[in-house]
Amino acid sequence: MELRKRLDGLLKRIEKARLAYSRHHIVQLVAVSKYASLEQVRDLYSCGQRAFGENYIQEFQRKALGLQDLPLEWHMLGPLQHNKINKLLELKPTLLHSLHSLKLAQAINARAKEPLNALLQVNIANEAQKSGVCLENALETYQQISQTCPQVRLQGLMAMGPLGGDELQSEKVFSTARDLFNRLPNAKILSMGMSGDFELAIAYGANLVRLGSAIFQD
Ligand SMILES: *Cc1c(COP(=O)(O)O)cnc(C)c1O
Repeated sequence: MELRKRLDGLLKRIEKARLAYSRHHIVQLVAVSKYASLEQVRDLYSCGQRAFGENYIQEFQRKALGLQDLPLEWHMLGPLQHNKINKLLELKPTLLHSLHSLKLAQAINARAKEPLNALLQVNIANEAQKSGVCLENALETYQQISQTCPQVRLQGLMAMGPLGGDELQSEKVFSTARDLFNRLPNAKILSMGMSGDFELAIAYGANLVRLGSAIFQD
């Protein structure tokens, strides 16, 4: 199937899930381009998509430089090492989804010359393969970052559904993330939902979904 048809199909599904949740609920789509070529990103841009996400700084840099002529918005989704902070800041991402500790926030705060928008990544199901603060520390870490890191502008949370989890486990993760999100002062963005579970995530209040394989792979 061609890219445009796949995108249209996904936008329809997002719209349906959004309306089922609330007419007033707006959901943003970030196209995860980690599986995609520069050409595919260009094609998707010509279908109207503006926001793209990458997992690795190196690849983010390669794509951002190769597509400089387009007015794209870049989201950084993957775990960030301290020695890559300067590179990330140079690339001026629209949003860092994977802020996973106070220490990382402080390191960014010390280096950033202008504020960086970020989401606190929460490892809701405490999975060893995933980074993110654990649920127990999430609220406190969120407050500490807000209070001590003026160059980090926290906008909300990022969470991932459980790896290989069934629907019940996913629901539990998403509803826990939503409850935490609702307790945060001034949080605007709840980033959760990937190709396999985005409709469920929207049913639990996600307002940003990150889709990769559903867009770029048959
Ligand atoms: C790869 C990735 C996605 C997209 O995953 P798909 O299942 O391909 O849609 C979303 N978020 C993060 C953090 C990812 O690493």
